[in-house]
Amino acid sequence: MKKQDIYDLLEEKLLGYLDYVEVPIKSCDEVLLPIPTTANLITSPIDEDMLPYTAHQIYVRQTVLEKLSQAAELLSSQDPTMELEVVYGYRTKEIQMNLFEKCQAELKQRFSEAELPEAVHKYIASPEVAGHPTGGAVDIQILKDRKPLDFGTKIGKLVSDSLTFSPFISKEAWYNRQLLRRIMMSVDFAPFDGEWWHFSYGDKEWAKYYEKPFALYEQLDFRI
Ligand SMILES: [Zn+2]
Repeated sequence: MKKQDIYDLLEEKLLGYLDYVEVPIKSCDEVLLPIPTTANLITSPIDEDMLPYTAHQIYVRQTVLEKLSQAAELLSSQDPTMELEVVYGYRTKEIQMNLFEKCQAELKQRFSEAELPEAVHKYIASPEVAGHPTGGAVDIQILKDRKPLDFGTKIGKLVSDSLTFSPFISKEAWYNRQLLRRIMMSVDFAPFDGEWWHFSYGDKEWAKYYEKPFALYEQLDFRI
């Protein structure tokens, strides 16, 4: 079997745009809060695109923040030299739309009109179903002694080996991805196995993953 066939198989298993679009939302009006720096949880924005909206802070919903703190506690109780680092949280709908349109323009030649929404969604979540604009999704990794563990790829890098279960990464990277996944899932985050760093709570992806009757968070426009 060729390497690309294995990537294709892994991608086929991912839930896609059409799985999410019908998920209903029963919105709870929870506030967005900045993630404070603590002994085992830090933030380090990976992009500057949110600077005009939230300055240097990363915002998430209140329950998401509580769950991140629980996850960080759990991790440091297992290894006090480790901490969680969040590099992205809430993203405006406008930024999501711009990212999506840019990706769509790049892929337009390669796919038919019918295939295009799913194809683009694999790289950049479709604006209608995206988790980051709900404040429920985070991009996150584990640091040890302030340095990222080996996860096989850099966080946020859209390459085939970002698929969580890529068999072409080292044993150590595989173990580290599973550690992150286990920690996050133990406090109710849903993984997105197309990107080892992306997890969410309360959005459509989370509802679909855990077969909840509805999602908890609407997308929203927010700035400080
Ligand atoms: Zn993400």
